[in-house]
Amino acid sequence: MSKQLNILIIGAGIGGLSAALAFKRLGHGVRVVERVKEIRPVGAAISLWPNGVKVINQLGLGDTVQRQSGFVDHMRYLSAQGTPLTEFSLSPLFEAVAQRTYPVSRFALQKTLFNAVGAEHIELGRNCVDFSIQTNGVSAHFDTGDTLSADLLIVADGTHSRLRNKMLGESIERQYVGYVNWNVRVPANVNLTPQASWDQYVGENKRVSFMPMGSGGNDQGVEELYCFFDVPLPAGTANDPAKYREELKHHFRGWAKPVQDLIDGFDPALMARVEIHDIPPLRSLIAQHVVLLGDAAHGMAPDLGQGACQAMEDAWVLANAVNEALKNSQTPSETALVQALAAYDEARAPRVGDIVTRARKRAELIHGSNGEKTQAWYGELATEDGSSIINGIKQTILAGPLG
Ligand SMILES: Cc1cc2nc3c(=O)[nH]c(=O)nc-3n(C[C@H](O)[C@H](O)[C@H](O)COP(=O)(O)OP(=O)(O)OC[C@H]3O[C@@H](n4cnc5c(N)ncnc54)[C@H](O)[C@@H]3O)c2cc1C
Repeated sequence: MSKQLNILIIGAGIGGLSAALAFKRLGHGVRVVERVKEIRPVGAAISLWPNGVKVINQLGLGDTVQRQSGFVDHMRYLSAQGTPLTEFSLSPLFEAVAQRTYPVSRFALQKTLFNAVGAEHIELGRNCVDFSIQTNGVSAHFDTGDTLSADLLIVADGTHSRLRNKMLGESIERQYVGYVNWNVRVPANVNLTPQASWDQYVGENKRVSFMPMGSGGNDQGVEELYCFFDVPLPAGTANDPAKYREELKHHFRGWAKPVQDLIDGFDPALMARVEIHDIPPLRSLIAQHVVLLGDAAHGMAPDLGQGACQAMEDAWVLANAVNEALKNSQTPSETALVQALAAYDEARAPRVGDIVTRARKRAELIHGSNGEKTQAWYGELATEDGSSIINGIKQTILAGPLG
């Protein structure tokens, strides 16, 4: 094994592509294999918090993603009927962490990462079904019967990960968080939300959110809003795009006018309806020559907006741990790789475990798993000046690898 590794990555999502780019920029050989034949992200947009943006900056894509993304300057919580509960500037947060947030189209972000990795490093339509550890390396096996070998296998195959159980030697079940999320993008309109404001309507254990997401999601340069609806429902309700409008009208009857206008105006073809799941925090994210990264390692409720940000942090930490260990190694590289994977595990397992747990708690609070606590939270929002919300977000960001 040389100091330049041959890295094989399963999955061309935000996690796999970020890892590929991080390793490529450090001079390692990368190959990404992806099951689907065409990359079509499910979901409208993603809010990249400053910890994710800091990784994007390090990957050389900061200016591009900033151009694609929306501009958010302040945050409002409103009641279901539209009474403002709290409204505050996010500038103190961005100043404290020295970085703005970038709400951005999923499609634009994934395409930007894809292009930066380079199509020549990515194979689409290839389904990995298994892996086996070899002397000094690892082999991935595909449903076509062929095999690829590498020094390091990065399993970034998402929350449904097929390879996770084998790697961990135990069965990890996804858990339903208890609510359904409908998300969509619509043309920006000040009647829906004031410019630069992230508005969230909360009530009846439900939520509706409006966030500027820039124009990266379309070719016409039209500024858009990333909007979503959350409703606590039992698992397994029917997912029929023809019924989305009717369903949402039912769940949000009597809510404020912007919510009604959104329900009347969205295009169901652009909407995704997702039952929100997470996985329990994992004790370890590594095995010999294999690591878990992204949702495969820490599928979480989206209520802190941290899933993709954590996948990016994983990518950054892993690539640098491996690179540093190999560079400084007086010992054979095999030993350095073992040390690097241990360092990745030590840095990432507690961090992502904590965020998975906090995201689940936040989801439960917002969606009424204990109705009294949720009512109390509505009351707290009405006395909030923004400082405790900003403080919570700030701590999550500053505890990341890039501070
Ligand atoms: C409603 C919602 C809102 C969210 N909002 C935010 C947010 O605001 N901010 C944020 O940071 N995060 C957010 N997230 C989380 C974020 O979407 C995920 O954390 C992130 O997309 C995970 O990326 P990934 O690359 O790990 O996994 P994925 O995006 O799932 O990618 C995995 C890839 O692996 C491929 N694959 C799977 N199996 C195989 C196989 N056997 N062989 C080859 N390829 C395979 C898949 O086809 C897929 O392309 C949200 C999630 C949801 C559901």
